This record gives sequence, C-alpha cells and structure tokens, in this order.
Amino acid sequence: MFAEILTIGDELLTGNTVDSNSALIAQKLTESGYWVRRKTTVGDDVEEIKAAVREILAREPEVLVISGGLGPTHDDVTMLAVAEALNRKLVLCEECLEKIKAFYERLHREGYIDDPELNEGRRKMAYLPEGAEPLENTEGAAPGAYIERDGVKIFVLPGMPREMRAMLEKEVLPRLGKRKFIQRKLLAEITDESKLAPLLTETIKRFNVRIHSSPKGFGKYIGIIIFGESEEEIERAKAFMEGRGIRFEEGW
Ligand code: ATP
Ligand code: MG
Repeated sequence: MFAEILTIGDELLTGNTVDSNSALIAQKLTESGYWVRRKTTVGDDVEEIKAAVREILAREPEVLVISGGLGPTHDDVTMLAVAEALNRKLVLCEECLEKIKAFYERLHREGYIDDPELNEGRRKMAYLPEGAEPLENTEGAAPGAYIERDGVKIFVLPGMPREMRAMLEKEVLPRLGKRKFIQRKLLAEITDESKLAPLLTETIKRFNVRIHSSPKGFGKYIGIIIFGESEEEIERAKAFMEGRGIRFEEGW
C-alpha cells in the first residue's frame, strides 16, 4: 500500500527550478495515509517519461502522481508519453476543448492575450489518454487526467505549482478518500540514540512499520514515532522492542 511521485521537466534536472511540487505531493499523500516510497524526476522526453512510468507501474503502487509537461509547447509531451506507456491512444476530449476555448476567450476579454482563437498548441492540451477522466484545472488551461490501470490510480497534473496545488486539493485528494493514518508516539527510556539504533533497524526489518527517532535532549528518553498500516502491527513492533529490554512511555 504505497504511492510514487514522478515529476517531469528539464528545468528540474538543471537545477533552474527547485522541485517543490513533489514535496507538496509527498506531504499531502503522507497526510492521507499513503507511504510515499519513491520520487522520480525525468526530463521532457517521451522515451524517458515512458520508461519511468513503466518502471513505476511494475512496482505496483496504489497511487502514482505525475506532474509537469501538460502545456501547449513542443516540450510538453507528458500526456503522449503516459498514453504510450499504457499502450493507449491519445484521444480528443471534447469537453476539455470547450473549456480550453472558454479559458482563452476569457483571457482575451480581460485583456491578457491578443488572440482568443484555438491554435495547435492550445488544441493539443485537449488530448488525453483513451479512457482517462479529465481533471479540472481551475487555475490554468491544461486539464489533468485520472486513469485507473490494473488497480493503480494514476493522476497526471500540470507543472505550474499554483495549478498543480489546486488540482491536487480539489481533484486528487477527494479521489483517494481519507484513510486512517496510523502513527504512535512513544518515549523510549534510553539515553543514547546510538544504542537504540540496531534495535530499530531490526524492528523495521521484521515488521511492516517505519520508525522515526529523535533525541529529546534531556538525557533519559528518546522520542520515537512508529508508523504503520494497522494498530496490530504497531503493537507487535512495540512488543518486540519491549522483549529486547526497552521500556516505553506513551506519547510525547
Ligand atoms: P504550462 O502550461 O505552464 O507549460 P506544464 O504543465 O507544461 O504547464 P511545465 O512546463 O512542466 O508545466 O512547468 C511550468 C512551470 O512550472 C515552469 O516554470 C516550471 O519551472 C514550473 N514547474 C514545473 N514542475 C515543477 C516542479 N516539480 N516544482 C516546482 N515548479 C515546477
Ligand atoms: Mg510547459
């Protein structure tokens, strides 16, 4: 039960843009109870994107969130690459075309652009992988896409942070549902984090949990947070550590 994130854009690889999108997506997925296991970044290249999507799908995440490269320019190839990775065609979404048309007409009316007509670049944004559900872009022209494939929920979002954030909040998170995020905070009675380290390593290996530890700075305790998919698994991990002589107090 985990999620992966794929961000796309040459500017992310050159360091000209800091990939803040994947940080926000990771934060929101974690808060929704998903374990983000990997983030991948590739450039604006069909073959690179295709390969990355296929590699990720082979790992069978529950959710894959992709961001970047949906715009009107020649280097915006994400929808095409995703379609090819899934062996689907790119097809015209009529409803999307209408919205794109209305979007540019509004920008024209408001004096932001001098030409409201649909050109090739603007029309291109209305093509989605066959079978995809369009995701509304309240902040820009390019729609996103939601595709279900062999149990993987795939979301394709724009790269502009403002557009991405709005679509994530309004279109992605509601489709994930609110899963219970289980974490348990404990104080371990041990003065030195390095003594706890080997036991934490062993616990993580044996049980389906993650553990963050942080020294509390007052000698007696180390604070730990156990993350897991069920109370039972967290309890088993805790009991295992108690069996190795660690005493815990709840909460911190
Ligand atoms: P557009 O319609 O603007 O072209 P797009 O979906 O094609 O949207 P990109 O071309 O990938 O998006 O990026 C648009 C802008 O958003 C660029 O300024 C880019 O630097 C920024 N951006 C893209 N991806 C990210 C990211 N992962 N984190 C932060 N900023 C990003
Ligand atoms: Mg672009």
